[in-house]
Amino acid sequence: MRCPFCNHSDDAVLDSRPLDSASVVRRRRMCKICQKRFTTYERLEEMPLMVVKSDQRREPYDRNKLREGILRACEKRPISMDTIDLIVAEVEYSLKDYVMEISSRAIGEKVLEKLLEIDQVAYVRFASVYKNFSDVDSFLKEFGKLEIQTQKQSARNRKKEGVSAIRRRKAA
Ligand SMILES: [Zn+2]
Repeated sequence: MRCPFCNHSDDAVLDSRPLDSASVVRRRRMCKICQKRFTTYERLEEMPLMVVKSDQRREPYDRNKLREGILRACEKRPISMDTIDLIVAEVEYSLKDYVMEISSRAIGEKVLEKLLEIDQVAYVRFASVYKNFSDVDSFLKEFGKLEIQTQKQSARNRKKEGVSAIRRRKAA
């Protein structure tokens, strides 16, 4: 576990006890580096994380389902399988912070964050499926976000180009 104070991951468990639901364990830990104490809540492996859907129905988190959704959005886009697996792994890693359940919306947002950095077409495809654009307004809102991001990106690229131009000149 990462120490919330110094970020090292070397700790000792001082105390471990199940919470009343018994599927969650509360552990008192002490960081071996900075000696500070912190508490973690850990879900037992055999207890699946539940995903709460928009209609409030719950289903166990399913990695394949997540992967398929991303694959569909990335179809025929220049995105390698490695990249897709990386997105799945990163989204899954961020789920560790959730003990019992997470909304499908929250998972979708995490995927969108990743896709936005990688491929705009895949991003819009995923957004249209998962957000279920029911009206023009919500679609335009999403599209607005995309434009802002594109502007930021091209500003960043311009900056980068500027820097390498200076470097080149110095080297010459
Ligand atoms: Zn520490």
